[in-house]
Amino acid sequence: MKNIGFIGLGIMGKPMARHLIQGNYPTYLYSRSGVPDELTALGGTACATPKAVAEQADIIILMLPDTPDVEKVLFADNGVAQGLATDSARPQIIIDMSTISPIKTRDFVTQINQLGHDYADAPVSGGDIGAQNATLTIMVGATEAVFGTIQPILSLMGKTITHIGEPGTGQTCKAANQIIAALTLEAVAEALVFVSKAGADPNKVRQALLGGFAASRILEVHGKRMIDHTFTPGFRIDLHMKDLGIALDCATELGVSLPGTALTQSLYKACVAQADSQLDSSAIVCILEKLANHTVRSEVTPVYEA
Ligand code: NAD
Repeated sequence: MKNIGFIGLGIMGKPMARHLIQGNYPTYLYSRSGVPDELTALGGTACATPKAVAEQADIIILMLPDTPDVEKVLFADNGVAQGLATDSARPQIIIDMSTISPIKTRDFVTQINQLGHDYADAPVSGGDIGAQNATLTIMVGATEAVFGTIQPILSLMGKTITHIGEPGTGQTCKAANQIIAALTLEAVAEALVFVSKAGADPNKVRQALLGGFAASRILEVHGKRMIDHTFTPGFRIDLHMKDLGIALDCATELGVSLPGTALTQSLYKACVAQADSQLDSSAIVCILEKLANHTVRSEVTPVYEA
């Protein structure tokens, strides 16, 4: 059985690592915030540095916030690259499951390949609930051979696992996911502010729309959070802004215009200026409420006099 390394044990990484330990893989763990006792109690081994993880593991998984974090964990002093075997007979595989830049991912692939090792990008969708329940959607950029090797390990953390193409393409797919999610969040927030100010009960409207063509998981889950004003993350505004920044940077490189993405990014910035970047991304409704000078509420308030 292969030894697994897992670096980055936050909202997503902790439950994902738990599934690997419970799948009986010897698992070597590191996180800047420390290794949770729950994981060592289950049999995981805490390591002092990313380098120490790489010295033990055949497959090293990263679940870190952003591109600079991945770069640091891979290439800084005591990083993963320093712990990889120098013997080319023992190729190791790095799987980056964080959401980061597809452009920088291509650099990381080249650098790791030059050291004689393999690299796959496998970002996820499905949030903290998907991580807890091992039902994540995983979008994989890898060679055919590497995909074949890592698929059984990914299946312990996710339900829908798609090999998109060569290394780097998983991150491109994830950027597309984040564009759709952000624009849908914005649309749901606009619609709820609109109906509430018009005097309709947003709870009833949400319920009705969930049975029709406008139905979505975002209307269901985030629509409820917007109506109830419960913004505990979930998926934080700062992470969603980071992801839209990734999409916009790639679009600049490609010469593609993403007007809806740029607008939604701007609304998130306004939301952070007025509220808090650590709130759930459904808090985008707060900035639309300010623009409308109206707070979404579930009780009906008639606005048109007979
Ligand atoms: P998080 O902030 O909860 O966890 C990140 C972990 O990485 C923390 O434990 C932190 O200590 C560790 N870390 C940061 N820098 C480090 C370093 N230099 N060395 C070692 N450890 C370091 O973030 P999260 O919500 O778990 O998200 C992780 C990734 O997954 C992000 O790229 C995010 O965009 C993506 N993602 C998150 C969600 C979600 O719902 N939270 C959903 C899909 C994808």
